Amino acid sequence: MTTSSGISPIAVERFVAAERELFLSRNPKSVALAERARHSLYGGVPMHWMADWSTPVPLFVERAKGARFFDVDGHEYIDFCLGDTGTMFGHSPDPVARALAEQANNGLTTMLPGEDAVVCGELLAQRFGLPYWQVTATATDSNRYVLRWARAITGRKTLLVFDGCYHGTVDDVMVRYRDDQTVHRSGLVGQAYDLTEYSRAIPFNDVEALEAALAQGDVCALLCEPAMTNIGMVLPDPGFMQKCRELTRQYGSLLIIDETHTISTDIGGCTRLWGLDPDFFVVGKPIAGGVPCGIFGCSTAMAEAMTQARQRASEESHGHGHSGMGTTLSANALAMHCMRANLEQVMTQAAYDHMLPLAARLAEGFRRLIGKHGLKWSVTELGARCEFQFCATPPRTGAEAEAAFHDELQMALHLYLINRGILITPFHNMTLCCPSTTAEDVDKLIAMLDQALSELLAIPG
Ligand code: PMP
Repeated sequence: MTTSSGISPIAVERFVAAERELFLSRNPKSVALAERARHSLYGGVPMHWMADWSTPVPLFVERAKGARFFDVDGHEYIDFCLGDTGTMFGHSPDPVARALAEQANNGLTTMLPGEDAVVCGELLAQRFGLPYWQVTATATDSNRYVLRWARAITGRKTLLVFDGCYHGTVDDVMVRYRDDQTVHRSGLVGQAYDLTEYSRAIPFNDVEALEAALAQGDVCALLCEPAMTNIGMVLPDPGFMQKCRELTRQYGSLLIIDETHTISTDIGGCTRLWGLDPDFFVVGKPIAGGVPCGIFGCSTAMAEAMTQARQRASEESHGHGHSGMGTTLSANALAMHCMRANLEQVMTQAAYDHMLPLAARLAEGFRRLIGKHGLKWSVTELGARCEFQFCATPPRTGAEAEAAFHDELQMALHLYLINRGILITPFHNMTLCCPSTTAEDVDKLIAMLDQALSELLAIPG
């Protein structure tokens, strides 16, 4: 029997059993650290989801540089995961490493701005076209604060998102669309209040659902990625994002574009490439070269509306209330110095000129393999990012992308690659090329995946 992925579950089971054994025998030091970690770290890892990879115990990393990292057992890996975009421009880029060293002895956080902050504001305005900027600690924080501003500005409470989205651990986005209803995302822990009261989820690429949701008149903002990247990749239909802009404007809702992942498309993100003109624009993860940092930008009209919203709020709080936005370490001196180095020297047009053709080469290689092995899979490409998915045609909605998930197969292939020195993004099949990735690295991934598929398909199912 085969599944919709075209591969028999029994074959996958046999294949993965051998790979798990191989991992355990190849990685005695990771195994020993995992055993030791179980006594002090909950779940044996510093963050519980780090135990959710395809490996039988976590792979412990010793060091990373450029497109490569080394595990504690001395194996070298080509990294196509790149910290799930956190280190999209390579691990420890030299200018960021220098910036870290420069700032290390000059104060890490003071609650006050320095010249770096001004330079970053100017660089961000030039690059992304929005005039005003704020700096946070993570993309999650940026989204949370922008949502607060959107509600304050519009006086409306409902947030609109696309089914299958992810924008960080912001409570309000943890909803799905099921049977024409907004429901809680499965897997949420400790959710006390009903998220569906002020959040609405609709399918991506569905103009009719979008208009119907906005027409209710209660939507403060549509928060979206310009292409979905967290449920597998889902590209917008031609003109869909433009429609999002047009309809949000028509119904008095704001448009927030979260480019935390899609910044891999172009130096100005999809926003600049596709002329999207959002009210707010968010990026996190790689913006300071891997040092925790998030940003959000806004239009002049939004900046004015934010000032008015603050004035209204401070009348009620006698001028010394909490805005609900903060985190003490936001815009700390270390992050600002690293963001400046990253914007000036790392996240350059030359970097994109290197990354984009490599991702295209990778996508082409995936297509070749799919053809060679007669699989009904597809490939989705967006800038420096591409993904193979277990469905015959690229998905158009989050639900379609999710229907193509085959977790056991995905984990089996990932583990096979890890055992042969290649890492791709966990939980789906996304790959990123960075400025240090080479054509040989790309070809090695294709060759190893080819080998994996040949071995897997030869197992009687
Ligand atoms: N926005 C998007 C589009 C993301 O993919 C993510 C994380 N995967 C976030 C926001 C949140 O980033 P962080 O976890 O760094 O806060």
